[in-house]
Amino acid sequence: EIYLVYQPQFELKTRRMFGAEALARWDDPQRGQIPPSYFIEQCEQVGRMHALTKKVFADGLAAVAHSPFARLEFNLSMNVSATMLGDFEIVRLLSESLATAGISPDKVTIEMTETARIEDLQLAAIVMSEMKQLGVRLSADDFGVGAASFEPFLQLPFDELKIDRLFVSRLESDRKARKIVEHLVTLGRDLDILVLAEGVEDEGTFEILRSLGCPAAQGYQLGRPMPLEDVYSLWTDVNVEKRSAGGA
Ligand code: C2E
Ligand code: MG
Ligand code: MG
Repeated sequence: EIYLVYQPQFELKTRRMFGAEALARWDDPQRGQIPPSYFIEQCEQVGRMHALTKKVFADGLAAVAHSPFARLEFNLSMNVSATMLGDFEIVRLLSESLATAGISPDKVTIEMTETARIEDLQLAAIVMSEMKQLGVRLSADDFGVGAASFEPFLQLPFDELKIDRLFVSRLESDRKARKIVEHLVTLGRDLDILVLAEGVEDEGTFEILRSLGCPAAQGYQLGRPMPLEDVYSLWTDVNVEKRSAGGA
């Protein structure tokens, strides 16, 4: 009942798609669609996070391996809860999943969610370094919300920062939100970290992000989470035919 959908991610300057984020979905036959926020918490409470992550890695990597993206420069992002950074199991799991699917690690980004909940940052930093050693990129998800989000950012070896949609959604109406995003873009540039804005819902927001020099974005305006085949159709529209600005 658990499966993945994929939300495309775009380079802002060129409006080209460079990858997609895998997002877990659960359709319960009785209850219908269960929100990920709910079932991920449930998984954690009953000790099923490892099983969920294993399934996400296996399904996501296999889907890409069996798609035209396998031969293209296309990045797959997958979410991992930072609560899994307490031991090295996640490194083994990732390494085995990559080998099984035959996907090159440099085409994979791991988005760390819930970094505010890490108990031992020193240990988490070592675990993440080992993940990086495999060749994947590491992203700080939902940046800017939750407790002490600058501390994990300081201590952990991130390659990417995803600005939480709280700030992105207010870009048009809130000068403070705009300044925060502007500074995060500068921070990313100075540290050589890719900055990706999440939750872009309209063209106005897209244009502000572009004017601020934000390199990457995802959101309903650019593409909703969808089956990987649909991501590929969109890819051929925006990247191959190079249809330029104007519509999502
Ligand atoms: P996230 O990683 O920050 O994922 C982005 C969420 O924002 C997704 O919600 C996506 O559907 C939603 N979103 C994307 N664009 C827009 C937009 O323009 N407007 C609005 N309002 N929302 C947008 P979703 O799929 O409900 O996932 C919620 C969270 O559940 C994810 O947040 C992530 O933290 C977690 N999650 C999802 N899949 C997995 C997974 O496989 N493993 C783990 N550990 N966590 C997952
Ligand atoms: Mg994410
Ligand atoms: Mg996020």
